[in-house]
Amino acid sequence: MKKYNIPIFVPHKGCPYDCVFCNQRRITGHIRETIPNEVNEIIERHLATIPVGSRIEVAFFGGSFTGIPIEEQNALMERVMPYIKSGRISGIRLSTRPDYINDEILENLKRYNVTTIELGVQSMSDIVLCAANRGHTRADAEAAARLIKEYDIALGLQMMTGLPGDTEELAIDTAERMIALKPECVRIYPTLVIKDTYLEKLYRSGLYTPQTVDEAARLAAKLIAMFEASGITVIRVGLQPTEEINEGASVVAGPFHPAFGELAESAVYYNIAKEKLCKMLALSKREEACSKRDREVIIYVSPREISKMTGNRRSNIDRFKDELGLKIKIKPDNGLAYRELRIEL
Ligand code: SF4
Repeated sequence: MKKYNIPIFVPHKGCPYDCVFCNQRRITGHIRETIPNEVNEIIERHLATIPVGSRIEVAFFGGSFTGIPIEEQNALMERVMPYIKSGRISGIRLSTRPDYINDEILENLKRYNVTTIELGVQSMSDIVLCAANRGHTRADAEAAARLIKEYDIALGLQMMTGLPGDTEELAIDTAERMIALKPECVRIYPTLVIKDTYLEKLYRSGLYTPQTVDEAARLAAKLIAMFEASGITVIRVGLQPTEEINEGASVVAGPFHPAFGELAESAVYYNIAKEKLCKMLALSKREEACSKRDREVIIYVSPREISKMTGNRRSNIDRFKDELGLKIKIKPDNGLAYRELRIEL
């Protein structure tokens, strides 16, 4: 059954935290709050475009839903209840911070049929969390994640890469610790430097260097492979471009690309093909760039995955040439599934 979210933006006005990468205060000053009366209209508008028989969740995104006053949470969720009772909507999904989860909050959310909670974990390193001024620790995130599962609510986890003090090793450690919590899904967001944030000050004073697009995409590819190998769905990689999140708008620096998810996917395919090729060519990782240069190789993939295997502007083909000295041709094969490759030398 195909899954759909009906997104409803609920900014966390008056958020008492001040994460270095966030300009929520500035953004929320410009965004009109969703009032409960609008919820029906938004749901109806989306339902008109979603195929009947799909699994649909109403998703309260945009901030820490369980941090807003409980009467406001309930007034919004109340509007979804008739749709849940009629079976048109299967449940409610929301995003929040680890320290806005406790028994009382979860008992209330269960009453309103909340089926998925996405936790903004961002990092499992206390040093990175502290440098990002998150105001919670790894232990808070782990305790919240476990409690959500105890309430039989599906767990989503969000992580960021490239925060101040973060490294590839710490990001991989974050992914490993997240996998241990057995979430249903994850989101991966490379850190962008947004206007009017503390991170912008750090960046402008030379105290913070963001990831490049390539670095962020290659790291995201490794993380995607780790999550997928553990049966965890990666539902988003990179922030969705919006009027605000765009070059020339609020993004001052960092690995912004309008199709960042595609870049990361291409890097995933590159890694799969490279591993297979290295085995086939019996080259150890250290000998990759050696002897068999200019050899022709055909990589077959499902027709749907051709552009990912090729890479943005043929980047994967160029990378094979540069790193392995191989001339690559990519061809479709209808018999191959997602992530499957066949290689002919
Ligand atoms: S990221 Fe969330 S918790 Fe942090 S300042 Fe922004 S709204 Fe508040």
